[in-house]
Amino acid sequence: MDDGLDLNVMFGAALGLAEPWQVVSVAFDQEIGRLDLGLDFPRGARFNCPESGCAEMGCAVHDTVDKTWRHLDFFEHQAYLSARVPRVRCAEHGVHLVNVPWARPGSGFTLLFEVAMLTYAKQMPIAPLAKMAREHDTRIWRVIEHHVNTARAGMDFSEVADIGMDETSARRGQDYVSIFMDLAERRVMFATEGRDAATVQAFAADLSEHGGDPTTQIQRVCCDMSPAFIKGIKTHLGCEPHDAQEGEGIDAPASPGHQPQIVFDRYHVVAKANEAVDAVRRAEAKTRPELKRSRYAWLKNDANLTVKQREQLTWLTRPSMHLKTTRAARWRDDFNAFYDQPTPADAEAYLHRWCYGAKRSRLEPIKEFVRTVEAHWDGIIAWQQSRLSNGLLEGTNSLIQAAKRRARGYRSKTKMITIIYLTAGKLPLPQIHTI
Ligand SMILES: [Zn+2]
Repeated sequence: MDDGLDLNVMFGAALGLAEPWQVVSVAFDQEIGRLDLGLDFPRGARFNCPESGCAEMGCAVHDTVDKTWRHLDFFEHQAYLSARVPRVRCAEHGVHLVNVPWARPGSGFTLLFEVAMLTYAKQMPIAPLAKMAREHDTRIWRVIEHHVNTARAGMDFSEVADIGMDETSARRGQDYVSIFMDLAERRVMFATEGRDAATVQAFAADLSEHGGDPTTQIQRVCCDMSPAFIKGIKTHLGCEPHDAQEGEGIDAPASPGHQPQIVFDRYHVVAKANEAVDAVRRAEAKTRPELKRSRYAWLKNDANLTVKQREQLTWLTRPSMHLKTTRAARWRDDFNAFYDQPTPADAEAYLHRWCYGAKRSRLEPIKEFVRTVEAHWDGIIAWQQSRLSNGLLEGTNSLIQAAKRRARGYRSKTKMITIIYLTAGKLPLPQIHTI
């Protein structure tokens, strides 16, 4: 029995090689810890023409090109596949390099290696991944970018009706990235640099490229109260009504126009109320030093307070303290109760009463918040009908925070966006197959 032959057949089976490819050599270099598998095809083999759409399956080999691909490690040893890849002559398309089943054209990695890199990249930062794989990180990034871009290009967004938009900073308080989510599917559709109206324009263009109709398709948008987003929505995700028009050979039908309903995200509205409480506290702390270093005690949910913070709050909110901050926090708590009202009608009546009272609070930041609420009335009330919320703030937000960590050490926001798509885009990435 020939042991070498058995080994070739065994590796061929393990790789899932199909005709006419077979393993013809197995070489292991213990010194450098490297396994090399030589692949080849028998003389006279015929190949498909690689041009897409060409049905020619019996092309003769013109000549060959030697190629090597990094494969998944064999235990702790690096494994490589090598083959002479045929260039075939098609009667219609001429001479071309054939596609091999274990790697995509132009890649120095096997598909299995690439899929493994994608799987790891969902779980760990790229810098240590590159180190673990013993590859330069630019090669790992190229693999990830290729598969993310290819998978995204094929996605269809024509059925998306409800979207959420939010911004996140790539670095603390700067370099903003705007994120657009499909709320029904809970996936990131689009992310881009900046946080102005132009980001909505870029989203609209991307929606067009994915089978969508940006000016008529979006029914509801959940976002914060930033004027830039509001302006961008009105300009780029809606259209003006117009009458039927004749002339120049084009008869445009009448259109009732379209505007998506804006729903202000509950979390962002409540954050504004909290800012008002903190503004009152900061001003008051100038004459009431006991308020210093109490910021989080006022802003955290009761359930999240530490024992110390709860004691601090109990002390500060005693009636005999007569703190303005206590009154501000009560107005904030009363505002939050808007979200617990049983019906939209109850909620709207409740909010009217709250505004009426809060305007007379003699607390300037609270009165300022009332003006914000009144200026954004419809979008705040709309939450009661749709109960839409930005999934960004629950599961997806943690994915985006993770994406920032994955791309840490890379200044490019494009890289961070790539990882956001990889981890939160629900992309149809290639699956593991045998080779
Ligand atoms: Zn052809």
